[in-house]
Amino acid sequence: MTNAPRAYEEPMTRLAERTTRIAGSPTMKVTATVDRLRREGVEVIDFGAGEPDFSTPAAINAAAHAAIDQSFSKYTPVAGTAELRRTICERYRTDYGVEYKESEVITSAGGKQALFNTALALFGAGDEVITHAPYWPTLTEQVKLAEATPVVVHTSPEDGFAIRPRPILDAITPRTRGIIINSPCNPTGALISEADLAILAREAATREIWLIVDLCYEKLIYDAVAHNLPGVLNTYCRELSVICGSASKTYAMTGWRCGWAIGPAAVIAAENAIQSHATSNVSSITQKAVVAALGGSQAPVRAMLDEYRTRRDHLYDWLTADPRIRCRKPGGAFYLFVDIGDVLSADGIRTSTEFAQALLDEARVAVTPGEAFDAPGFLRISYATSMETLREGSRRLVEFVRAHAPRATVAG
Ligand code: GLU
Repeated sequence: MTNAPRAYEEPMTRLAERTTRIAGSPTMKVTATVDRLRREGVEVIDFGAGEPDFSTPAAINAAAHAAIDQSFSKYTPVAGTAELRRTICERYRTDYGVEYKESEVITSAGGKQALFNTALALFGAGDEVITHAPYWPTLTEQVKLAEATPVVVHTSPEDGFAIRPRPILDAITPRTRGIIINSPCNPTGALISEADLAILAREAATREIWLIVDLCYEKLIYDAVAHNLPGVLNTYCRELSVICGSASKTYAMTGWRCGWAIGPAAVIAAENAIQSHATSNVSSITQKAVVAALGGSQAPVRAMLDEYRTRRDHLYDWLTADPRIRCRKPGGAFYLFVDIGDVLSADGIRTSTEFAQALLDEARVAVTPGEAFDAPGFLRISYATSMETLREGSRRLVEFVRAHAPRATVAG
């Protein structure tokens, strides 16, 4: 996404220069397109949405209802209520054995704002910030909005898109100010190992580089692999690291808008100042709901994870039944990241963006093209939808591939 188109074309208006450096979110665009088509009466299968299809668990809803009934409707501290920040500290203590104080936590309007605050608090003009591709496009755009320069290190499909420390360390220059790691990664589902993060964390500490870890999918990991990234950061670079998390994916709460940043008190104070002039506190009702989410039974999270696993396995089997649809089972998150290189050709469908558009036009299946994640030739397929939808959508996708694959490979 280095040659991003202008975000807006407004010939009559003089927009700030920064608007020329960023493009609108391509992931949100797919959701908007599906929404528009559905409002026009078109039946669309949505494999684009990066959000759980589950309803928010009942106990969380009940806490929100109670908050409304008790008129818990005033401003709260910008960073969130003490109760909520304490609950976040307790959750991370229980899950990862790390100790943070309330003054080291701020809640924001989703993980997105937590990451944005963090970028604004830590990066500025002349700074380079390294992250790994395929990436969630917001990460690099936020770095640009902070006037800094994203430096992208590509992970490889042959290696399962594993996030390795060596290429990241090789990308460090005297201008490097930060490294952003997203694990499990959206869109690949790849995880960084604790040992690999430890290598990065040690180097970050030595070279005084910020290490930011986006853990939005931290509770959506399918196998019992060690993934105590907060513990690693605490051991090696506590004073130079920020953990960003979110209630959105874990508790099916995307619309409620609550994420958080956890880090050194000085960073959190700076984020607090930024947020105090931008959005103030997360909705008071949402805060009560998130206390119930993080502080209550985690059984609904396990149930949703089990269901995602079953869906992943079925979708994988249905799609890879055609050898031209190539992918691995992701270790986390809820996306299959599919290599459709064998289906593209110079005289047919040339790019994954064209593929996604034609698939939507002809088969009424929405997916996110790899270009959105700096990974042309791939598609992101969200399985945060019902099994029935997955079955029908994958049937249409396979049929579409059969109809459009270059002749030379059809025989295989
Ligand atoms: N994180 C989700 C996605 O990648 C939601 C959309 C967004 O916020 O970009 O689709």
